[in-house]
Amino acid sequence: MKKNNPLNEIDLHVHSVVSGHAANTIYELAREASRKNLKLIAITDHGPSLDGGPDKSYFWLAVKVPLFLYKTQILMGCEANIALNGSIDLDKNFCEMQDIIIAGIHDVPTYPKNTSVRQNTNAIIKCMKNKYVDIITHPYRESFPVDVKAIVKASIENNVLLEVNDSIFRLEHTSKTIKNTQKMVDMLKSYSRKFVINSDTHIANELGLKQNAMNALNINHNLVMTHKDILKFLLEKRYRPKLKCKN
Ligand SMILES: [Zn+2]
Ligand SMILES: [Zn+2]
Repeated sequence: MKKNNPLNEIDLHVHSVVSGHAANTIYELAREASRKNLKLIAITDHGPSLDGGPDKSYFWLAVKVPLFLYKTQILMGCEANIALNGSIDLDKNFCEMQDIIIAGIHDVPTYPKNTSVRQNTNAIIKCMKNKYVDIITHPYRESFPVDVKAIVKASIENNVLLEVNDSIFRLEHTSKTIKNTQKMVDMLKSYSRKFVINSDTHIANELGLKQNAMNALNINHNLVMTHKDILKFLLEKRYRPKLKCKN
């Protein structure tokens, strides 16, 4: 990975061994992130309602993890599960302790199977109104299709970032996913709205991956958030004790 390329500075979607189906500890991930010259990563383990995911008490740890490990900035957070009614599976008091919260629709008991575009879109838009939610992960998935236009508009209205998820382009990579994610990126461009590209790492060697999405999509590099962009966004959106006192 090239040094000093602003596109490769951050990765805001990383799972540790605590997620139940990922391979590495926080310290292993931090060491690899540092080796890859990433300035900042966010450890975002799955919310408690995913099978094999952590107990909610794990999220108390966020306040204990040092802000820097191996010279890489470590944000602690959660990839919360969005329920059909738009709620997430992390209580307010745990949300307040996190440096960052990302949220997405997953195959969990609180989300029924074979939902419609309208149901998925409404769930995400309601979730965006939660002041703790910073990023919507993989907004368009084959198994949970959404109205991309409505999602982009609501993300701007509610000041929530949208993610291009590299993992989807490593795994699913279908024409429908490409078409709808490209539509999302093009709409964001028309509003000059920045977005994030995350690896959705489940094993340390995936950290910082963006290239699969970049190869599949036509992306304007100027709209991809950098380290500076994300810190500004997070600090303007709500009070974050750990970030506030060290920057
Ligand atoms: Zn996810
Ligand atoms: Zn994930």
